[in-house]
Amino acid sequence: MSRPGTDARTSARLSRQRTRDTAPEVALRRELHHRGRRFFVDRAPLRGLRRRADLVFPGRHVAVYVDGCFWHSCPLHATHPKNNAQWWADKLAANVARDRDTDTRLADNGWHVVRVWEHESVLTAADRVEAVLDSQTGSGDG
Ligand SMILES: [Zn+2]
Repeated sequence: MSRPGTDARTSARLSRQRTRDTAPEVALRRELHHRGRRFFVDRAPLRGLRRRADLVFPGRHVAVYVDGCFWHSCPLHATHPKNNAQWWADKLAANVARDRDTDTRLADNGWHVVRVWEHESVLTAADRVEAVLDSQTGSGDG
C-alpha cells in the first residue's frame, strides 16, 4: 500500500478490508451450523447485483452481513484516522452508503437483510438471525 499519508496501521486496515472468513464471520457460521441452520457462504443473493452477503439462506430470502466496526462505521467503535482524514471520511461514508443501497435493493426484491456487527456476541447475533429466519417460515415447515 503506498497511498500518501497512510501509516502502518491504516495500511494494515486496508490490507484486511477484503479478507474473507474473519473471526466473527467464522464464529457466526459455526454457531448457526451447530443450531442446524444451513446456508451458503459469500454469495450474491441477487443475480445482477454484485454484492456478496456473508451468509445466504435462499429458501427464506435472508441475507446476513457481518460488518466490521471500522469499515462500516459502527456507532460504538467507529474511528477516524487522522492521516488523510478527508480521504478516509469519504471512503467510510461511501461504504455506509453502499450498505444502505444494498439493503434497499435486497428489500425491493423481497429479501430480508440481517446486519451483524463484529462486536456483537456470536450468540446474540445467531439469535437475531434465527428470529428473522423463523419469521420467514411460510406455510409448511417450521
Ligand atoms: Zn462495534
